[in-house]
Amino acid sequence: MNQPKHYIYDEDSCRFVPVESNKRELFLLSMSLWILNGMVFGAIFLSLISTFYATPAELALKAENDFLIEEVEDSKRTMTQLMGQLDDLAAQDNEMYRSILGLNEIPMAERNASMGGARAPEMDLSVAPSTAQLLAEARQSVRQIEQRIRIQNDSYEEIKRYFNTNSDKLKHIPAIKPVDNVLTSAYGMRTHPVMGYKTMHGGVDFRSEIGSPVYATGNGTISSRRYAGTYGRMIIIDHGYGFETRYAHLSSYVEGIQEGQRIERGDLIGYTGNSGMVSGPHLHYEVLRNGKHVDPLMYLFANTTPEEFKLYQELAATDHASMD
Ligand SMILES: [Zn+2]
Repeated sequence: MNQPKHYIYDEDSCRFVPVESNKRELFLLSMSLWILNGMVFGAIFLSLISTFYATPAELALKAENDFLIEEVEDSKRTMTQLMGQLDDLAAQDNEMYRSILGLNEIPMAERNASMGGARAPEMDLSVAPSTAQLLAEARQSVRQIEQRIRIQNDSYEEIKRYFNTNSDKLKHIPAIKPVDNVLTSAYGMRTHPVMGYKTMHGGVDFRSEIGSPVYATGNGTISSRRYAGTYGRMIIIDHGYGFETRYAHLSSYVEGIQEGQRIERGDLIGYTGNSGMVSGPHLHYEVLRNGKHVDPLMYLFANTTPEEFKLYQELAATDHASMD
């Protein structure tokens, strides 16, 4: 299509001449418009792209962020496990050491006190709310663990002082395993192995071959050494300070051992057997405090590892028939 021609008046030639440069200007004008359009649409396109797709730098930051959050979550899980272990230590501290020594137990509420249970964790406002919550909880767990360790440490210090000032009494309190064998039946209500019904098992049973050595568990005096019906051959030691221990179903006594004889912790007193009413050879061991049966498990602390203690506690929680 022919472009309409434009003319201008040329004074030199005194006539109208067509404008030659018009085509070029139109071309330049339309090109400029296209470039401008391109820039505007290009900018819109790029901004849309960046909304949906991250740059490599952003991707690297996101990966790092995910890794850090995973690390914090992992630390939080570890801290929860540590809290569980501290609970076990606290329970042992109360049961095995403090109650036996006559020291006041530290109630769990006090051990957990000033941990800011009701106080909301401090939130970091510079990160996403979920991350802030995670960090705040992690910080609180660390504070709780610090607090629990401090109380546990104070408790052990107190026990240590007690040991140093009450050494004679401590030699008399039953504190070791009477045989070098595995505990197979715990204290409490148990199915009787011969009678078949549930009855109170006033001691613990250590499975052992006939003839295994039996040791006194604390200093004291032999108060009885005789055949006692269903208990079979039995030795009773009076430890003083209100404590008494009984060793039943023995096959024999150590030669020459007599009632009234003074005895020290670790002294050999007899040998395991199956005398009396039993389902097999074992040692039935009882601890009495002020005339009442108590759980002997709490009086094995001198040579029981925390792992062993936990295992025995689990055993006590199941209804395992006693050997009586
Ligand atoms: Zn028993």
